[in-house]
Amino acid sequence: MIRRYINGRVFTADPDPANAWAGAFAIDDDTLVFVGDDDRAPDADTTVDLQGRLVLPGFTDAHTHLLMMGAALGQVHLTDARTLDEIQSLLRDARAQNPDATVLRGRGWLFDSIPGRAPTAAMIDAVVADIPVYLDANDYHSCWVNSAALAALGITRDTPDPLGGQIARDAEGRPTGLLYETAATQYAWAHRDATTTDADRDDDVQRAIDAYLASGVTGVVDMAFDEFGLAAFERAQQRYGGELPIRVAAHWIINNTGDDAANLAQVARAAELADGASTPWLRVVGIKLILDGVIDACTAAMRHPYANGSNAEPIWPLAQLKPVVVAADAAGLQIAQHAIGDYASEIALDAIEHAIARNGDRPRRHRIEHLEYAAPGTAVRMARLGVTASMQPVHSDPAIFANWAEMLGDERVERAFPWPEYEDAGALLAFSTDAPTAPHSALANMYIASTRASALDRSVPATHPQFALPLERAIGHATRDAAASVGDADWRGRIARGFSADLVVLDTDPFTDGSSSLLEARVVETIVAGRSRYARRVPAES
Ligand SMILES: [Zn+2]
Repeated sequence: MIRRYINGRVFTADPDPANAWAGAFAIDDDTLVFVGDDDRAPDADTTVDLQGRLVLPGFTDAHTHLLMMGAALGQVHLTDARTLDEIQSLLRDARAQNPDATVLRGRGWLFDSIPGRAPTAAMIDAVVADIPVYLDANDYHSCWVNSAALAALGITRDTPDPLGGQIARDAEGRPTGLLYETAATQYAWAHRDATTTDADRDDDVQRAIDAYLASGVTGVVDMAFDEFGLAAFERAQQRYGGELPIRVAAHWIINNTGDDAANLAQVARAAELADGASTPWLRVVGIKLILDGVIDACTAAMRHPYANGSNAEPIWPLAQLKPVVVAADAAGLQIAQHAIGDYASEIALDAIEHAIARNGDRPRRHRIEHLEYAAPGTAVRMARLGVTASMQPVHSDPAIFANWAEMLGDERVERAFPWPEYEDAGALLAFSTDAPTAPHSALANMYIASTRASALDRSVPATHPQFALPLERAIGHATRDAAASVGDADWRGRIARGFSADLVVLDTDPFTDGSSSLLEARVVETIVAGRSRYARRVPAES
């Protein structure tokens, strides 16, 4: 049963630019059996006329958090609400739409939208007082709650502030409804996690899958898989009859317990899962280590202090990092290290170099996540060690850049997110969104990658436009190279003969209409392994 598609504008992402474009392709079952010109397309059982539409390889989001993203999509989204009135009206509507709900969750609110930048429980109580309401701030560093939530969490004037966090209080010491840092994680998030059911997680999985397929994503790399995520995706795989509608590769999160044996036990669990029953749809491919925080909060580990004189210690000191990296490397696991500051990426590479010296020659494909500020020379060292640069164009959006630049405050700002350095060095560069810390839209991500302008606020001028990539290269990093980052370079991520038929059809051609058309472009169809997994209903033409 061969289907051929003709009369298209097919961007193949072939590494040789001479083969980057075709007009037609043919699919037999789940595999591409022809890519080339219309007049050479083989005979087929059915023919689809693409009517000149643009076809791309399916995107792979090379760094995401599926369960968190699915949960976020199920919450009231407050980022666009710029006044307290607007926030309150969204909450009132959400309560009215879900009269049976026992809890209301929201996310993405901005301090600037609230009078005096001081949110209180009373502000929420005014519109929703009968059930607990939890609202995560846009940066996920604080949680704003109502009085019913304070009661559900058992927080009173006698509750002490946890280490590393703070419960906002009035002059009499009474909690006012805002939980900062570990007060948010240890109270609001821990309570949420303890009350989340498998049915909730199944809903989260489905929302994440549906949202990705609708945006042309056919593969994802989860960067914080744990037992809950694994079980939820195994259930989804069963529901879909042994397959998933999207390809999931996962990195197992390893928490630094401060105890080498306990850390190595987590690595052993990841190795057991990687060796165990995996499918082309659901696989554990490696581990994830979070070496530092973020520049915006001055928690990324830098070689030189921030503008305010402070600095941060790495979460994994090299002495604790080395045994974990050596063990994971020896087990054939891919090691993904979150390293935003230049000191963090330096010790990440030191640990990999140490593992290579200990374990000798063997196939390995390690990676560093984010690399927002890396010292000159880092890209060359990564290329030499075969380490992938996993970067998120959407994190360089100029609308959120001012605070980042202010925290560093010196010449380092001029080397923010310098993607061409990694290309020039010959390192594999894989693009992603890190959803839900940023929007999951692959097309908006490509807009920022190819312009360095803002997808959030079009009135904000581009920053560092010299680092913008031509659209062909940006899309190559988000398709071919993102698939290659998990070892799939020889079977998916390109439109090539013998490759899996993972493709996306768009209604707009940003190659001819310009990058700005990416913000309006719509996915017409998403095909995974030859099967239509998303099709946009378009009104019939008259
Ligand atoms: Zn992440």
